[in-house]
Amino acid sequence: MRKHIRIYDFDRTLSDPTHRLVLPEGVSQDCEHRGPTDFESNTICESCFHALPEEVIQTVMHPEAVAKDPPIDVALLHFSLSIDNGYDVQIVTARRKSLVFATMAWLRRHLSAGRRQAIIERGGITIHARNEDDRRPSHVVKIEAARHLLPFVGAWYDDDPKVIEELVAVGVPAYLAPHCFFPQGV
Ligand SMILES: [Mg+2]
Repeated sequence: MRKHIRIYDFDRTLSDPTHRLVLPEGVSQDCEHRGPTDFESNTICESCFHALPEEVIQTVMHPEAVAKDPPIDVALLHFSLSIDNGYDVQIVTARRKSLVFATMAWLRRHLSAGRRQAIIERGGITIHARNEDDRRPSHVVKIEAARHLLPFVGAWYDDDPKVIEELVAVGVPAYLAPHCFFPQGV
C-alpha cells in the first residue's frame, strides 16, 4: 500500500514566525526546548506557547501578525513539489482553529497559481488545528489530531523534536524541519 499522505507543520516548518514570537517584558517561559540563546533573545518556544497567558497568545497568534510571516523558501518548494507529485498534502499545526482561515490565506498568497488550482481540483487542503481552549503541549495535540491517518503517512515534517521523536517511536517516517528540506551535505 502506498503511503500517500505528506503532513507538514506550519510555524517554523513552512513559515518563519520569528518576528512575532517575542516574550513581552515581565513574562517568562520555562520549557525543555529553550536554550541559553532563546533566553538572551527572549524568543518564545512555539512548541510550548499554549501554556503562556491568554493575552500573550492573542498577541503573538493574531491573524494580522501571522499573515506577515515570511515563507521558508526551501520548505515551500518542497511542499509545492509534493503537490505536483500528487501527494495528499495536509497541515497538522498547533495553531488554533480560529487561525485556519488566515493559514489558508497565507497558502493562497505564497503558492503559485498552478498549485492553488491543483489544490482546488482535489477539493482543498485539510488543516488540522487545535480547539480554542486546548492548552495541551503541541506534540500531544498534533499527534492526536492525525492519529487516524498514521498508517497512511509517508512523511511528516515538523520542527518540534518531540513530535519527531514520538512519531518515529510508532514507526511513522518523520523529519526535522526545516533542515530536512535542504539537500544532503548543505
Ligand atoms: Mg512548528
